[in-house]
Amino acid sequence: MMIMKKKFAVIGYPIKHSKSPQLHEAGFLELEIDASFEKLEIHPDDLSAWLTDEFINYAGVAVTIPHKEAVMKLVDKIAPAAEKIGAINTLYWENEQIVGTNTDCIGALKALQTECPELSEKKVLILGAGGASRGVIFALKTANSKLSIWNRTTSKAEQLAEEFEIEAIKDLKAVDGEDFDIIINTTSVGLKEWESPVPEDFFSSRNIVFDIVYDPLETKFLSDAENVGATTITGDKMLVHQALEQFKIWHGTELEMEIMEQAFFE
Ligand code: NAP
Repeated sequence: MMIMKKKFAVIGYPIKHSKSPQLHEAGFLELEIDASFEKLEIHPDDLSAWLTDEFINYAGVAVTIPHKEAVMKLVDKIAPAAEKIGAINTLYWENEQIVGTNTDCIGALKALQTECPELSEKKVLILGAGGASRGVIFALKTANSKLSIWNRTTSKAEQLAEEFEIEAIKDLKAVDGEDFDIIINTTSVGLKEWESPVPEDFFSSRNIVFDIVYDPLETKFLSDAENVGATTITGDKMLVHQALEQFKIWHGTELEMEIMEQAFFE
């Protein structure tokens, strides 16, 4: 099999919101790579046929909601991190095989390390037990942090706690934010709304507070944390770092973070 043209894409349903093309195109421009990056809306019913018939035309593909789990059954090989997380966000070719990996976990880790380089033994509270939460948990387990998880639907937090051998928190009211070094919102609360998953007075100045929601960047969760003097990390950091990792996989070369960070705001 020979790939004639360097074509890349992000697949999802819907896909209008995706920032992947603008991040990667900025990299193509910077490093003078002759390639294109498309947004492709693929209905879940058509995912299998698209991979069989069309993926051959692409050098690499980013995978977003709702395909991250479904694509696991459709690739030839799964990287160990993606296997454990249970989700793939990046596809590439290796010896004529389609390989699926996950760069969200590295994205989360690098975003956190912008404010906290040493994550080992840090006490971390993770809010949310959806798809993104699994990547964040995996990343922080790898970094040897001490994790606790809370979720609106307690049974899901308990399931993840058992699977990853971490602590499940049933009642957020019984928790003092001050007891944690790092607090992370992986719920979709705050996405296009001025809401927070925790009470306004939850934070203390000693917290590092990370919201993975990036639309808007300034969420109520981060605003409440800033009001008490906590250190905050916005969701664009994770998005950019996971895209930088994809760039490295697809092109075998590093790109400066600032190039994609700038493109995020364009
Ligand atoms: P998901 O699988 O649908 O999970 C949604 C999570 O939010 C669940 O834990 C859900 O709790 C919780 N939730 C939803 N509404 C809630 C409410 N009103 N109160 C409390 N909890 C609520 O979604 P996901 O894929 O994990 O994505 C979550 C967020 O992360 C999205 O905003 C997404 O855009 C963002 N994200 C950002 C990046 C990045 O690179 N920065 C990467 C991936 C995702 P229940 O289980 O109780 O329903």
